[in-house]
This record gives sequence, C-alpha cells and structure tokens, in this order.
Amino acid sequence: MTISRFLRSLVSQGKVLSHGYRREAARTVVTTSSSTSQAAAVATAEVVEAEFPVGREVSGFVVREVQEVPELHLTALRLQHQATGADYLHIARADPNNVFCVGFRTTPMDSTGVPHILEHTVLCGSEKFPCRDPFFKMLNRSLSTFMNAMTGCDYTIYPFSTQHPVDFRNLMSVYMDAVFKPNLSELDFLQEGWRLEHQDIKDQSSPIVFKGVVFNEMKGVFADSQRLFMQKLLNGILPSHTYGVVSGGDPLVIPQLTWEQLKQFHAYHYHPSNARFFTYGDQPLANHLEFIQDNYLSHYNKIDPNTEVPEEPSWKEPRSAHVACGIDPMANAEVQSSIVVSYKLVDITDTFETFVLAILGELLTSGPNAPFYKALLEPGLGSSFSPSSGYDGHTRSSTFTVGLQGVKDQDIEKIKAVIEETFDGIIEEGFPSDRVESVLHNIELSLKHQTSSFGLSLAMNLTPLWNLDGDPIDGLLINNKITKFRKYLAENPKFLQQKVREYFKENPHKYTLTMAPQEGYEENLQSLEEAQLKERIAVLTPEERSRVWQLGHTLGNKQEEEEDLSCLPTLQVSDIPRNVTPVPVTVQTLGGGVEVQACDCPTNDLTYFSAVLSTRDVSEELRPLVPLLCGVLTRMGAGDMDFRQLDQAADLVSGGLSVSPHTCFHPIDVMGYEEAIVLSSHSLNTNLQKTLDLWSSIFSEAKFNDLQRFNTLVSMIATEQANSLVYSGHQYAMTAAAASTGHVSSLAESWGGLSQLRRMKALSEAQDLTPTLESLQVLARQLLGRQGMRVAINTTPNHHDTALHILEGFLKGLDGTPAINPTLASIPQTFSPHTCKTHHVFPFPINFASKAFPGVPYAHPDAGALRVLARVMFRFLHREIREKGGAYGGGAKAGPGGPFGFYSYRDPHSTQTLATFDAAVEWVLSGGFSERDVAEAKLGVFQAVDAPVSPGAMGRRRFFSHITDELFADHRRLVLDVVAQDLVKVARTYLRDGPVEGACLIGPQNVDLDNDPFWSTVHG
Ligand SMILES: [Zn+2]
Repeated sequence: MTISRFLRSLVSQGKVLSHGYRREAARTVVTTSSSTSQAAAVATAEVVEAEFPVGREVSGFVVREVQEVPELHLTALRLQHQATGADYLHIARADPNNVFCVGFRTTPMDSTGVPHILEHTVLCGSEKFPCRDPFFKMLNRSLSTFMNAMTGCDYTIYPFSTQHPVDFRNLMSVYMDAVFKPNLSELDFLQEGWRLEHQDIKDQSSPIVFKGVVFNEMKGVFADSQRLFMQKLLNGILPSHTYGVVSGGDPLVIPQLTWEQLKQFHAYHYHPSNARFFTYGDQPLANHLEFIQDNYLSHYNKIDPNTEVPEEPSWKEPRSAHVACGIDPMANAEVQSSIVVSYKLVDITDTFETFVLAILGELLTSGPNAPFYKALLEPGLGSSFSPSSGYDGHTRSSTFTVGLQGVKDQDIEKIKAVIEETFDGIIEEGFPSDRVESVLHNIELSLKHQTSSFGLSLAMNLTPLWNLDGDPIDGLLINNKITKFRKYLAENPKFLQQKVREYFKENPHKYTLTMAPQEGYEENLQSLEEAQLKERIAVLTPEERSRVWQLGHTLGNKQEEEEDLSCLPTLQVSDIPRNVTPVPVTVQTLGGGVEVQACDCPTNDLTYFSAVLSTRDVSEELRPLVPLLCGVLTRMGAGDMDFRQLDQAADLVSGGLSVSPHTCFHPIDVMGYEEAIVLSSHSLNTNLQKTLDLWSSIFSEAKFNDLQRFNTLVSMIATEQANSLVYSGHQYAMTAAAASTGHVSSLAESWGGLSQLRRMKALSEAQDLTPTLESLQVLARQLLGRQGMRVAINTTPNHHDTALHILEGFLKGLDGTPAINPTLASIPQTFSPHTCKTHHVFPFPINFASKAFPGVPYAHPDAGALRVLARVMFRFLHREIREKGGAYGGGAKAGPGGPFGFYSYRDPHSTQTLATFDAAVEWVLSGGFSERDVAEAKLGVFQAVDAPVSPGAMGRRRFFSHITDELFADHRRLVLDVVAQDLVKVARTYLRDGPVEGACLIGPQNVDLDNDPFWSTVHG
C-alpha cells in the first residue's frame, strides 16, 4: 500500500470521485513543499486560543470550537456566521503555503450536469471582474501554487493555495466574487455548457451540431470505460437521491439543461447558508473573516437551501445490473469484462466506524498479502482490481467494493463465488496481527511524512465529511482513533472478523455490477446523439435557426475581442524574490567511493533514501525491459522471503520500496544525459537500518524464479497502463511527438510512452514469459551494484551521523566498483534527430494532438525565453483550442532542458488544432502579444520555478537533474530578464526555423491524415 493512498483514505475517509479537474490540462504543476517546525506550530496554537476563545464574535462570525491537533502540528477553529449560518473552518499551522477554499453542497436530481456547468460558468466573469474568464487570466497574474475548481457527486469546491500574502487576497477576491456575484451570462452558459451551432460558424450551409466545453469534456470522461463503470456503480448502489444521477453530466442529457435552470440552481446552492469556508496556513484569520463579511456575507440573510442528502434506505434483497462499454484496443480481446460487488456500509458522520472500515478496506484488498489479492488476482481471474475496489467514504453512506477488470465472461459466476468464500475464510480465520500492525505503522508514517500541499489535501479530503454535516475537526483527530482501535482489538481479538460478518456476510444491501464490451458501442452512442440532434433541429422555427447562426457569430466575436483586464488584481514581476535560498546539502563518498549527497532538514524523524543506478551500459536488447524491471523488482521476493513476506517486511519498516525509470537532460552539455533507474524509500529514523537491509537483499538476491507471480504482475501493469491512456492522452501524445527530435526524448518515449504500453500489451498476451523473466534477471545483475550508483539521503540533523554510518555499512556490502561520474552518459552517434508525424488510431470520440521541437539545455542563454514563450502562447492557444474549439484544454510546455511541445486535451478537432499550433508561432512572430503578457508569463513560470519543497524533497533538483544552486540562480535570472523581442527570436530559431519537428495525434480514424503523405498511421 502506498502512504499517500492510505493518508487519503484516512483523513478523507475515501476516494474523491470528482468530475473533471477542470484546469488539469492547463495546470499540471504538482508542488512539493513547506516544512513545519514543531516549535513554531505550538506557538501558533497558544496564540490562536488566546485570540479566539470559544464564544467570541469576530466580523459577524462566532467561534464554536478550538482544538489543537498535535499529531498534525495544527490548531483547528470552527466558526459560524450568525446572520446566514455559513460554516467556517480555519486551520492555523506554521506553513507559508496558505490555502483558501469555498465549497457548496450541490445536489442535482437529474443528469444535465448542472453543478458541473455552473462550476465552469461562475468562473467566466463576475460583478467586480467583468472580463471574460478571470479565473484563467489570474493563472498568469499570480504566484499561486494551486488554483482549481472541482465538482464532486454532492459538492462543488473552489480551492487555491499561495505562499504570497498579497496574492492570497487577490485570489480570494476573484474566487469570492466569482461564486457569489457571477455574471452567468447566456453566452457563458452556451460556451461552457452546450449549444446548437453551425459546424463552421463562418459557413451558414455547414451542418448544425452540438458544441460546448462540458458537453465535450463528459464525452471524453466516459470514453474511459472504467470511469463509466464507476459512475454506474455509484448510481446503482445508492440510487434513490442525488447519487442516482450523473453530477458531471451525461452527454445525452446535458442538452436538456436551460440557462434559466442554471441560474435557479445557483440562487439556491451558492448561498452563504449552504456554504463552507476553509482557510489554512500562517496568515491571520481575523483579516480573512473581515474581508468575507464586509464584502459578501453582510449582504445576505439566512435561507433554507434544502440540500440535505438523506440516508439511502437499506435494501432487503441484493441487486445486480449489467452495462455495456466500448472495446478496448489496448487490452487482450478475450478478457475485457469487469465485475464488482459493492456493499453499503455506515453513515459518513460516524468517524470512528469509518476509520475502522478504512483499515478493514486496506486489509482486504491492499498488497499481495490481502485475502482478495490472493483469492482473485493470483489465480489470474482478472488482470487487475477494478479501480473502484476498496473502501470509499465520500458519499452519505460509505461503501466497500471488490472486483476485477480484465475478466473472461465465463469466469463471472466463479468470481462471485470466490468473493463469498473469501469473506467466509476471513470470518473463520481473521487477519494476521502483523498485517494489522503494518497498516497502523503506515498511518504513523503518513502523519509524519510532510508534503508541500498538506493544506490543500486537508481542504479536499475533509470536504466529503464536512459537506454532509460531519464534524471535520473530529475527522482530524487520528491518534485517539488509533488508541480506541487498539483497545477494541485487545479486548476482543475477533473485533475485525465480527465487522466482516456484519458488513459483508449479513448485509443485504449488496450490489453486483458487470460490464462487457459491445460491438458497435461507440456507433450506437453516436447515433443516439445524432437522433437527438435531428429532433431538435427539426422543430427549429426559421427565427430560431437564424438565432443559432447569430449566436454562433456573437460568441465567435466575443472570443476574438481584446479586453481590458485592468479590473483584475495582479502581482508584479518585482514581487518575485531575486535571491535563492541555498539548499543545505553536502556531497561525499562513502562505502568505498560511492557519491552520497546528504541534506539535513526538519523531516519529522524520517529518513528519505534515494539511489540512482545508471543504465548507460545496458545492451540495446535489454534496454526496453528497464521499465518492466522497475515494475517488478521489489515485488517478486528476495533472499529467503517470497513476494508476500517481502511486501509485509517492507510495510512494517518503511512507506514501501519503489523503483522507477529515470531520464534527464544534462543542464549544460548538449551531448550529455543521464539514463537510470531510481530506488527510493522513506522510514522512521529508527528503521533506516532495517529498510536498507531489505534493499541489500534485493541487490544481492532479488528473486526471478516465480513465473506465476510474474504473470500476475505483467497483467496488472499492462492493465494499469492501458487505463491511463484515455486519461493522460495529452502526455502520451507529447512524449510521442518529441520522440524523433532527440535521443533522450526517444528514450523517454520508449520507457514511458505508447511504445511501452504496446510492449506491455504484447507481453500480457504472450504464451510463455520465461525468456522475459530470464532477461530481467540478467538486467538486474548488470544494474544492481555500486558501479553506476549515486545516493541521496535526507534526514534530521541529530540523526545525520547515525544515518551516514548505517549507509556506509549498506554500501560496503554491495558488489561492484564505484566510479567517478557514475551515471552521466553521452548521446550515441547513431541517433540523428528527424521529422516524424504519426497518427495513433484509437476508437476515442475525442483527440489528443501534439507537436514538438528540440529544446535547449537548462543553462543555455535561450532556456529562459523558451519557458516564457510557452506561457505567453498559452493565452492564444487557450482561446483557439478551448474557447473556440471546444476542447477541454490546450497549451505549450518548454523544458526545462527538454523539448518544446504543444498539446491539446480531449479535443473534438484534429488537423485544425495542428494548424493552430503553427498559427501560435505566427502570432508570436507578428508581435501579437504585449510586454504585459510577458510579465504575466514570467509569473506563471515562477509558479513552477519557486514551488514549495517538502523536507523529503529538498536537494532533489541537484540530485536528479544536476542543477546546482548556482545554475538555478542563473536560470531564474534568465527567466526574469526575458523581454518581448527574445520571444520573437526564440520562436523563429527553434520553432519556425527549427531543424526537425515531431507531431502526434491520438484519436479516431482521420481521413485528412490518411491522405497526407507526411503522416504515417499506426492502429491500436
Ligand atoms: Zn469540467
């Protein structure tokens, strides 16, 4: 089990099934962050309690509860707004990465996607900020570390985070105005929701079709059959109220929504009486309250929004259903069915019971020692668990689901029986006590493991419970639940077995859902949509027809308009700090000459270990197997431990042992690069020795003899990768487009792109994997040793000496002779960059397009300009691809160090978007942007450059990318000093006149590209 997954299930009580992270394609910046020292946090707690005693009135709010949570180093305050009843949760913590979130309980009773379309539309302009789409404009006027909006099945939330106090206030103004005073204009509704429009708005004879951002987005979402399956499961297990409908919108139902209904929904749901405000961090609460009260809440009275979600009535008899889906070209054709069995459990507000059930969920399904893993996956009854498997606590009644994907139709009945038998077995035998211990150990580790986005995770993870009137502060108190859990277990050794009997064996509220691909599924959906369209067009009066034509024009013109953005607040480039805080690392050699980077920082008594092992000397035949080796190395057993024992041992002493492929451009040398595998783990300081002992066994005695285990892993990995295609299609398209432009990009594609997906598919269908397993063993022998190795360790200062001493012992015990510059490699002469354009045909209703050009090294004088260029182009690309084109997203990305790439995400267009990429270059060359755009783009770039770093991640830039503090400072300066003419220069040099380019389209059959001699086509 992974820590992050467990912390999520723990704090959040479950998975978040959210329809679309709207901004996700545009903003994939993942931050890694802020350290919190315990001393500072304690001071905060005292200050907070003195300033906000229970009962005190502040700016119209009354303090209801103050609670210190020592295990998370925070103090929580709960307040209520007197006039409206609005709920407020503040988390005071010595963390500069402050968070704001406003959320509403949104409980639709139909599948028109009204909350989702509303989420999009409120961000399109408001009273104080009447420009088009202020939300997107703020992306470049801010140093935010996160900005987004999400629609869940019964809530809509608007969170952001930033380290900058002025920025916080700016963004809070825009968010508050957006949700409480949105324009909700008809044109915004038509653009974001759905509309009838001529296919070509300049040609009145072109056919009238459905368009709209959410309409297309949801078609994209349900092109993923596992997403469709999860949606149907939720609808089926809790059918009687809001969970019975599709909150994100069913593309066939979306066109029933009217603008009037949207405004009505806003009036009732986006009211303070139905609102929850969340703030987090080290900024003073009193200022937040005053701002919210004076500008917004003081204008409202209390209403009854009537948004309660009633408990689902319990069934007397189990139910079942079947759904059809499209055929998955990436999966084995014989085994494409899915089956799950799901149970309704307890009310989400019963936080101790949901805590116990979350632990039970881990015990039942997580890792190779879990009974369902043994009973379902190991015999090969399916290729992998269904993504909905496990405990889920985001709905009124929590649920538990177990099931498989990649199943043969004829095995369905058998799987149902095995699930029953497995529950019987557990009721009989219980769980081994060391498994329960390892789950509790992981909770302890996850409480200590700091992430940069801790506040944001709290905001999102507390939402489901709080949104349904549970006590969010109680949800934070984890230690008392662990104590209670241990007590119950000590008093009654059969405690968990009884839970299994109660919730699974004797629970009639049980839902069995199966899914199988159907020939002509996509065509059928298409014809249903066409029939609807026909019906609508048939009843259009001549006046309505001309209105369709008119509206298309008005919308097109509005999207073209240059606007005055002076109403929007902004940070200035001068707000970006000029100086860099050095990262406290030391580099030395240990264990006979292995290069070791050590970083002392406040890690909360954890030690983080990473090792880079070069693959530069691996033969060409074995190199493609590197990602598979990473996928299985720590999962096959080692020494005298089989795979189960190794997994159990790792869970007891660490947060898991992970291995991944790694490629990196040299920051200075255009001919230098690094290719490697990376090993990483983290553990309590006191468990470092035991964790490194496990790595030692893997180095010297990793097992490659269990063919059945290997078959299981290959099938699981292939399935997981195939599932990721429709969700991360733009990344696959970008990787594929870049592959021909440089050696490192080509290797990155081979290891993490469509090539790897296809390789895994072929292996999962192979008759005999013995030769592959033998090759992996040869590869492992070549790699696992000191010869091509570098190590990094992050630990607390008082553990530094002990940690290095333990590390020294570990390194001495390894084979191989350490080398100088052990991991740097030279680009082989045999590779020559070339132009290559490939259409990868998949039966999706939407496309992912990309175009790529070679970039420059990180330290190159043009590196800053290329990064700023990508951000400046975002403005143009967003307008053309999203606003006009109706795609979910589109943009450009440059390095650092890597290729320059354009992309579109869930795009109804193909060749038109590829032409838009070229037009973006022309737009820059013709000076279509201003100095203001350049300044904004710099802010955008700095959101990533200066993203907060967690203690476990400090020094990573130097270790993984060879970027020293000096190089980093120089690169920041390059970005800060960019002027408009630099952008024109680099756009000409690298994009228009670049020596080679790559292009890729992932999407359905395409006649234009079939007939284009410059494009080649690959099927499936
Ligand atoms: Zn959306």
